Amino acid sequence: MIRLTLKPGRDESVRRRHPWLFSGAVASREGDGADGLAEVVAPNGSTLARGVYSPGSQILARLWTFDGRAVGGALFRERFSQAWQLRETLVSADTTGFRAVNSEGDLCPGALLDVYGETAVLELLTEGTEKQRAALEEAARGVVGPRRLVVRLSGADRDRGSRLPPRSEAKPDLATFLENGLRFFADLSAGQKTGFYLDQRENRARLRAIAREKTVLNLFSYSGAFSVAALSGGARRAVDVDSSGEALALAREHRRANGLPAPDADFDEEDVFEDLRRRVAAGELWDVIVCDPPAFAKKRGDVDRAARGYKDINRLAMKLVSPGGWLLTCSCSGLVSADLFQKIVFSASVEAGRPFAIASRQGAGPDHPVSLDCPEGEYLKGLWLAARS
Ligand code: SAH
Repeated sequence: MIRLTLKPGRDESVRRRHPWLFSGAVASREGDGADGLAEVVAPNGSTLARGVYSPGSQILARLWTFDGRAVGGALFRERFSQAWQLRETLVSADTTGFRAVNSEGDLCPGALLDVYGETAVLELLTEGTEKQRAALEEAARGVVGPRRLVVRLSGADRDRGSRLPPRSEAKPDLATFLENGLRFFADLSAGQKTGFYLDQRENRARLRAIAREKTVLNLFSYSGAFSVAALSGGARRAVDVDSSGEALALAREHRRANGLPAPDADFDEEDVFEDLRRRVAAGELWDVIVCDPPAFAKKRGDVDRAARGYKDINRLAMKLVSPGGWLLTCSCSGLVSADLFQKIVFSASVEAGRPFAIASRQGAGPDHPVSLDCPEGEYLKGLWLAARS
């Protein structure tokens, strides 16, 4: 355990229960923090919060309690089971893949738990939660009772600012699950999320509901889950575009597993920017376009460049939407606010010379709750844009 004493006047955010303690707010440290646990103390010596400690990160501690409760096995079980109770009311028998614990959103900063059928994936996002791995694993087993528990350690690497280790050459390690009755595989060996983008469930359901007889262009498709939803909703055709051949291989598997057609022409391994320029030049039109890129802004300094990327991609995509068609455009960069994203999309539509109306906004589903204390947890923004003429 390490004792972190705050600088005078730097206790406000902790008193408001914000779970992130930045290193700049700390005046002194006592103890070694070898167990990954931290106690946060006001300048006058009173304890304000307890949490997990990540000396390599700018967010020096992620805070779990503000009422004197200790951080450890008992608290992990309590928090995980509270999160689980929420899911019991949210998920149904035909949806067996969902996020069971959502870090700050479930008052468990630094820990994610995703369930894929009989497999659970515990992702430890920080050095501190990594050090508490044994107790967190035990809580996950106790609350979820999965047949198999996989632990992913992304935290210490991320805290040091380095990239995740490259994916192994071995065959992908797949966990099977259902989403609204459709069969999917989470690729546990891949570097993306815990193997699947559970946060887009609600948008996939909307797409399925409007897809009948439509043509769908699925940009940044990863394993093609949007296309599976569209085709199962009666879409005439869906094309997946992604630069990753491995992701597209899994996209084919997804179609086969759901009894859907998977012709070669529906899988386009290419850079989306290049692909869109070619399609615009060819004068293509699509009834529905889904644009769900990776986070273009990973740190604050990236925001301007990210904004240009979002604008370019949306301008090109908008030109391809047929009259009366749809563009679902998304951003999962937490640093790009909903407001900024809407402005970027607006300027894309001006440049494209194509008017659109926001028919609805849909972010991540209720298994990705956002704590009022930590609005930074709301990262996914989806705008359903109806083309106007
Ligand atoms: N929409 C997906 C998730 C997208 S994740 C789903 O619902 O499952 C982002 C994807 O974009 C990744 O699969 C990555 O391989 C791909 N990607 C990143 N940059 C790209 C680029 N410039 N061109 C094409 N694909 C890209």
